[in-house]
Amino acid sequence: SLDVAGKHVTVAGLGVSGISAARALAGLGASVTVVDGGSGELHKERAAALEAVGISVRLGDAETLPEGTSLVVTSPGWKPSSPLFAAAAEAGVDVVGDVEIAWLLRGPGAAPWLAITGTNGKTTTTQMLASILRAAGLKTAVVGNIGTPIIDVILEGDDAYDVLAVELSSYQLHWAPSLRAHSAAVLNLAPDHLDWHGSMEAYAADKGRIYEGNQVACVYNVADKATEDLVVEADVEEGCRAIGFTLGTPGPSELGVVEGLLVDRAFVENRQKNAQELAEVADVNPPAPHNIANALAAAALARAYGVQPSAVREGLRAFRPDAHRIAHVEDVAGVSYVDDSKATNTHAAEASLAAYESIVWIAGGLAKGATFDELVQKSAKRLRGAVLIGADRALIREALARHAPDVPVVDLERTDTGAMSAAVREAARLAQPGDTVLMAPACASMDMFVNYNKRGEAFADAVRVLAAETA
Ligand code: ADP
Repeated sequence: SLDVAGKHVTVAGLGVSGISAARALAGLGASVTVVDGGSGELHKERAAALEAVGISVRLGDAETLPEGTSLVVTSPGWKPSSPLFAAAAEAGVDVVGDVEIAWLLRGPGAAPWLAITGTNGKTTTTQMLASILRAAGLKTAVVGNIGTPIIDVILEGDDAYDVLAVELSSYQLHWAPSLRAHSAAVLNLAPDHLDWHGSMEAYAADKGRIYEGNQVACVYNVADKATEDLVVEADVEEGCRAIGFTLGTPGPSELGVVEGLLVDRAFVENRQKNAQELAEVADVNPPAPHNIANALAAAALARAYGVQPSAVREGLRAFRPDAHRIAHVEDVAGVSYVDDSKATNTHAAEASLAAYESIVWIAGGLAKGATFDELVQKSAKRLRGAVLIGADRALIREALARHAPDVPVVDLERTDTGAMSAAVREAARLAQPGDTVLMAPACASMDMFVNYNKRGEAFADAVRVLAAETA
């Protein structure tokens, strides 16, 4: 439980989660001050809206702790090394995130949480899980890193939902020390956001928090030993089981794939059988290997919650991926054009490059400190060609020269927004009928676009122009 009535609470960050936290805490009787380093127009507008409901806002100073603060609630993006938190530590004041607040606000009969984290596939898997839970007739909210702010959902009351499908970033886990899920999954672990966490060890430790105190199942990726190690290290409730998922034939406590079927050997109802059929691989949309892994992880969590196999199948069939995640745009002259703008790191791009046989790859953007050698080595034999754009394209060009010297590369040497349509034209020139032109940049988009959505839209627009000209 959480008693903030009459207390001074400081909220760090005037973003979506900060605003939701500030309003909720004020509603609970806290005296709230929101602090943010920014002071632009958007900040001023947001500040005015909060001040109108009695919440104080301090713009232009994100570093000092307001007088009398007894709790700091931070937005997930704030680094643990931020001066505000040093000031809080000095004053002996706890720092938590909105997920922690939501957890503490749950009533005694609140809906259990099925939680998902991982470097890639979180949103997809969380939505697959929600689709399965809904197919089972359960009132389900999708929260955390996506959907409605989590505190708002909790404040709807214990009876509003049967179960929550919770996507959690490593940041959110870092700031949610007392969260205890019914069951949780870590999909995979690859270096990402290391600037925030400080090291791979610290990043893994924050991801591993998701298993702490699990009641029924800790779901891990058999192909990614680091996820299993986190289960081993976790302190869980008695009787909580480790459940693996694999793209191969499943072992005794695993879900996996056998002859085109997703099967469950972990939660078998009929003891006569040693495996339960869940769905066909073709029920997974799209049926790319990494996405089948996502489906198995979602199925494992749903099964841990007691959902029947028929609902797993129905839920997977009903699931539609969000935009810009391996989205087929159009076929032009026998070439398939696919938008995976959401592949903002090398691990994600590796997954989508593995899903096609002969690819013209459009890549580049902001590398965020990544190296491309491993990605290029693993994908080289599938590449018909590559077209490079964006600020850090030289890193990819050099990796291609080292590991795929025979692959034709067009470096457009452009970082303007219009570069995407030029890239599509170059890709069309390189592609042969039957190929896939795959925009999976392995980089963040902010050097050229506002976000990955805009990058994906620019690609799709360019493909449609090409299609219209070709028709
Ligand atoms: P997140 O929410 O973790 O960012 P998404 O579900 O939005 O993940 O998927 C982001 C991108 O990551 C996808 O476009 C795809 O390229 C890649 N991806 C999805 N699932 C996986 C996975 N299980 N392993 C590796 N890459 C994946």
